[in-house]
Amino acid sequence: MQIKKGIAVSPGVAISKAVVLDAEDQPVPRRKVPAHKVESELEHLERALAASANDLQDLSESTTEALGPEMGRIFGFHLGLLLDPHLTDQFKKLIRDEHVTAEYAVFAVMREQARSFRRHEKAMIREKATDIWDLEHRILKHLIGEAKLELTQLTHDAIVVAHDLTPSQTASLDRNKIRALVTDAGGRTSHTAILAHALGIPAIVGAEGVSAMISTGDRVIIDGNNGVVVVDPDAAKLMEYRQEEQRIARALTKLFEIRALPAVTTDGTQINLLANIEFPSEIPTALEKGAMGIGLYRTEFLYLASESEPTEDEQYEAYCASLRSLNGKHLTIRTLDLGADKLTHSEMDGQTEPNPFLGCRSIRLCLQNLPLFKTQLRAILRASVEGPVSVMFPLISSVMELRQAKMILNDVKEDLDDEGIEYSSDIPIGIMIEVPSAALQAHTLSREADFFSIGTNDLVQYTLAADRGNERIADLYTAGHPAVLQLLKMSIDAAAHASIDISICGEMAGEPEYLMLLLGLGLRTLSITPPAIPEAKKVIRSLDITQCKKVASWAQNFDSDRGVTNFLRNEIRKIVPEVFDGRSIG
Ligand code: PEP
Ligand code: MG
Repeated sequence: MQIKKGIAVSPGVAISKAVVLDAEDQPVPRRKVPAHKVESELEHLERALAASANDLQDLSESTTEALGPEMGRIFGFHLGLLLDPHLTDQFKKLIRDEHVTAEYAVFAVMREQARSFRRHEKAMIREKATDIWDLEHRILKHLIGEAKLELTQLTHDAIVVAHDLTPSQTASLDRNKIRALVTDAGGRTSHTAILAHALGIPAIVGAEGVSAMISTGDRVIIDGNNGVVVVDPDAAKLMEYRQEEQRIARALTKLFEIRALPAVTTDGTQINLLANIEFPSEIPTALEKGAMGIGLYRTEFLYLASESEPTEDEQYEAYCASLRSLNGKHLTIRTLDLGADKLTHSEMDGQTEPNPFLGCRSIRLCLQNLPLFKTQLRAILRASVEGPVSVMFPLISSVMELRQAKMILNDVKEDLDDEGIEYSSDIPIGIMIEVPSAALQAHTLSREADFFSIGTNDLVQYTLAADRGNERIADLYTAGHPAVLQLLKMSIDAAAHASIDISICGEMAGEPEYLMLLLGLGLRTLSITPPAIPEAKKVIRSLDITQCKKVASWAQNFDSDRGVTNFLRNEIRKIVPEVFDGRSIG
């Protein structure tokens, strides 16, 4: 039995067999296969070698035809290497003698080969190291690609183990089969973590080295409340966690019972509890959990989940389907927040930016790509006749950006007028406050926006210069930092002063420890991931606003995030003792 700690990002406990996914660009961990599986591993290798040889044959022919024999010979050289038994026998020997996986055998032999080429005295041979890497990638793609395919065709329950998962990989996981997930990389509010939470499965990220500890087929326990991974548990651990599973099931049933009760504090203050979604298919669950509407629809996931750019009609259909499911409840559609870690398939194949989180993402990408932006705005406007809709622009960092975005929206309205296409004349236009400059300029922005929604996931990362997806600095990334509290207060006060609506849609809003602070600062609308709604409602129903205001005011006196979070945890524990360690469901 082995135990590993990581960052708990989605609560619950799962006990199941692991399926390990390898990322093509990562060092392949040395994993073993049981003795009786050596033959099938060798067959797996043979299939990948044959597929790679086919690729190279085709490439060699097509390149010769298009670019001449010189270029075609490059792939001929790769093919020659691949067909050289001296090389392929080494793969097979490693699998037979040491019972390692085919991908590890290929990785180890090819890296050694590349090293010896690199050390060679002749420059011409040294340059060939690149060809070795290229060939290694090709074979691994066939080996690991098959494992990825397997994942979409799982016939049994499994816990996904990976070095890292992109948001689009996570979005395509089959929630009926995937019981939990754990990754080496990632931070508390990485989009992968957010999606796992939305899927309602236990998840741990930032468990460095975990993917090298686990092999496909190993029994694993994921404790998403405490961020603990148990590999190959003994009988006592299994028993302990089976009991924990039952306790959680009982707690969830109890929480479910309060879903129909209002989210109202003990002094009678009504709190508007909304849900964050990535796909329209999440709406029925969100409503079932007690959401009163959708405060954040992350529309970019329609792009991330499809191979090609969704058409205007496809987007229109998705928005109409959402409004139909909501049956009169409000839908806040956030315009595309693509870029940074949320890349479409074609972008992933293309070039990357040196600093993607500070680069051409989100509203910046839309403003530089008007056909993309206008297509989405047309779809939103057309759908607006089907039910109450707001439009929200993400990552606004200056007033000029908001003005530009509104101007383009007006252009699209004019186009629709010319075409005689109907849209609602009453669509609130708001912005996310997720860049420090927007919080600092909240007064100015409040004159030109109908509402604010605070996106603390990004606000924290940009305020503290701490990447939200990087496990190595996860302890620096904290919403309880006094600087973040100041920006929250500035934004809330500015909205109150201008009498515009303000809500919060970052993950912070779904964490019980921050609820007293947020209500005390004046927030009355919270938009959170659907599985967290029942617990938030339970906590809200125990709070008193006067007490929350006192707590919020005290919290601002601390000089460190630790002081703030310890204080907030103690205060909430006094009122709802069963909340915690942060996640009472677990
Ligand atoms: C945020 O940044 O807080 C937010 C809600 O947006 P996202 O998590 O999609 O970046
Ligand atoms: Mg954001």
